[in-house]
Amino acid sequence: MQAPIFVANWKMHHGPRAAREFVAQFVKLYPDRIERTVILCPSAVSIEAVASSLRYRPEIGTGAQNIWTEPKGAFTGECSAAMARDAGAAYTLVGHSERRHLFSETDEQTALKCTRAFEAGLLPILCVGETLAQRESGTTEAVVIRQLRAGLAALTPDQVRQVPIAYEPVWAIGTGKTATPGDAAAVHAVIRLALVELAGKEAARSAILYGGSVNEGNAASLLAAPGVSGLLVGGASLDPAVWARICQA
Ligand code: PEP
Repeated sequence: MQAPIFVANWKMHHGPRAAREFVAQFVKLYPDRIERTVILCPSAVSIEAVASSLRYRPEIGTGAQNIWTEPKGAFTGECSAAMARDAGAAYTLVGHSERRHLFSETDEQTALKCTRAFEAGLLPILCVGETLAQRESGTTEAVVIRQLRAGLAALTPDQVRQVPIAYEPVWAIGTGKTATPGDAAAVHAVIRLALVELAGKEAARSAILYGGSVNEGNAASLLAAPGVSGLLVGGASLDPAVWARICQA
């Protein structure tokens, strides 16, 4: 079985100084566990601070929360995949629900971002998930599969097999409402089947993470759900002690 993956999405918290303090505390609390993969995704301004603070803990990765769709140019306020890589990131989130819903990110943009990530040497983590209205109208599977297929559309089968997918129901993000382990497992199974259709039977081993109001109390049961290969955590990843406990759930 693959090592479980724990991704911290700090959203718009922790500037460079706070990020360095976080890492200094976290590395004391989190022992080097080779059977787990931990990735910290700070805001773009803190990527370099996190990556350089982790130089003695190379098993802990740094990721961007977002990249732009073009490699360079007149895109004020944006950060390219190559710039994130240069700052020390090895991963980037793509298609987080806040990007899709607050910043109107389209499926086409998620596809371009996945391509840009690979071009720059970053591994994209593609986020998919349905809104409450979509869940209530019975379209969860259709929405998630559309986002998945669209986001991965421009990648080769080999690239598709490398991309961790994060299933994050929009109604569970930052709301305190969590999918049950059974809900998560059901959608993960549908995603896994779609990945096999896209990229062959080896894609059955792809990493599919769950995200949405994960905390210390529910991390272990969500991680134990069939087909859940890791966790993507927002609010509960901001405190180094809490995050260290979640990473050892
Ligand atoms: C997220 O930001 O991806 C997330 C899952 O947030 P939270 O854990 O706060 O719901």
